[in-house]
Amino acid sequence: MSKENLNVFEQVQAQIKEACDILGLDNSYYEILKTPERAMEVGVPVRMDDGTVKTFIGYRSQHNTANGPAKGGIRFHPDVTFDEVKTLSMWMTFKCAVIGLPYGGGKGGITVDPTKLSKGEIERLARGFVRKLGDFIGPAVDIPAPDINTNPQIMAWMVDEYNTMKGFNNPGVITGKPVLIGGSLGRTEATGRGVALTVREACRAMNIDLKGAKVAVHGYGNVGSFAGLYLHNLGAKVVAALDLGGGAYNPAGLDAVELMEDSKPTRTVYGFPGSQSITADELFALDVDVLVLAALENTITMENQHLVKARLVAEGANGPVTTEAGKKLFERGIVILPDILCSAGGVTVSYFEWVQNLMNYYWPEQEVNEKLERNMVNAFNNLWKMAADKKVDMRTAAYLVAIRRVADAMKLYGWV
Ligand code: GLU
Repeated sequence: MSKENLNVFEQVQAQIKEACDILGLDNSYYEILKTPERAMEVGVPVRMDDGTVKTFIGYRSQHNTANGPAKGGIRFHPDVTFDEVKTLSMWMTFKCAVIGLPYGGGKGGITVDPTKLSKGEIERLARGFVRKLGDFIGPAVDIPAPDINTNPQIMAWMVDEYNTMKGFNNPGVITGKPVLIGGSLGRTEATGRGVALTVREACRAMNIDLKGAKVAVHGYGNVGSFAGLYLHNLGAKVVAALDLGGGAYNPAGLDAVELMEDSKPTRTVYGFPGSQSITADELFALDVDVLVLAALENTITMENQHLVKARLVAEGANGPVTTEAGKKLFERGIVILPDILCSAGGVTVSYFEWVQNLMNYYWPEQEVNEKLERNMVNAFNNLWKMAADKKVDMRTAAYLVAIRRVADAMKLYGWV
């Protein structure tokens, strides 16, 4: 067997090509979609607490803006590369298109281990990055948001820096802000909520009773923990959870409400009272109904896909199952809820935040959640039907819907 291609940039290009071919699109569409419209690399010098200056490398990529300004998060992680950021921006184009948001795809990242930086150093890094991005971002150009290891406080510093550069207030330049300064109610929980809603709809379609259904969550961070909490609230039994600090397993179910509270001070689910420790491979191999993947890219590959026993795999992260492993799971009758659908709750509420910022009129949380639910349920039904009609897996169906939308806009603009 040839070695699996774990290069995410090449994986997404192959996925785009396959969808363009199924849709019978002229090669010009693939030529435009195979690479970002614009991408930049910047050096961000930061004055460290010890007085020295250290330069961090950051990236921002705007893949395609046929459907609107670029949109997508900024991550701080030691493994960030230019290729990864470009790929993530491509996934954002399709994520926004699957939900029907008036956005293109963008993404940013800085190669840094934020756990090694003080709060002040992180603030100076965030501000320095925005100064370097300059007019590359803006409410009608490209709108960043949180991603791995970034949060509302970091978004607040970034908006402040942008406002200082422009000389006036611009809340719509960045989403995922604290609620007090123009953030939307429901944004922090939105990605996890969207995962739970998509799983709920899929269980309904697959005749799986969510009440008592067993769930394992890989990556119990912002996305995974809220997905676990909402699935627990819907009656499911979260039996296993794992994060960077370790894993917790209890066949009788972990109380997701207590798990969230208990893991806050220690920042890990490891050692949760009543649980036993579990490794990632053991978690993948559990006999559960739903496996939620909410960590990083390339989590399930050809090396470990054989372990998976769940009937439903929910991609709360971006790209956690490789294309090849995904096809294998499909052959084994396992349904994957693809990232560009399943993890779209965050950017959907980011869109609501941006709309509220632009009109300066703010909605109650219930309104946000109702709108999110409507968007997620409609998108799921659309893809489920497409997958059945075309006899393809849900990922291919998602790409077909997304690329159709982007292609139609490009055609109207006369790009092709
Ligand atoms: N970082 C999130 C994602 O990957 C949210 C992006 C946004 O809200 O713009 O979908």
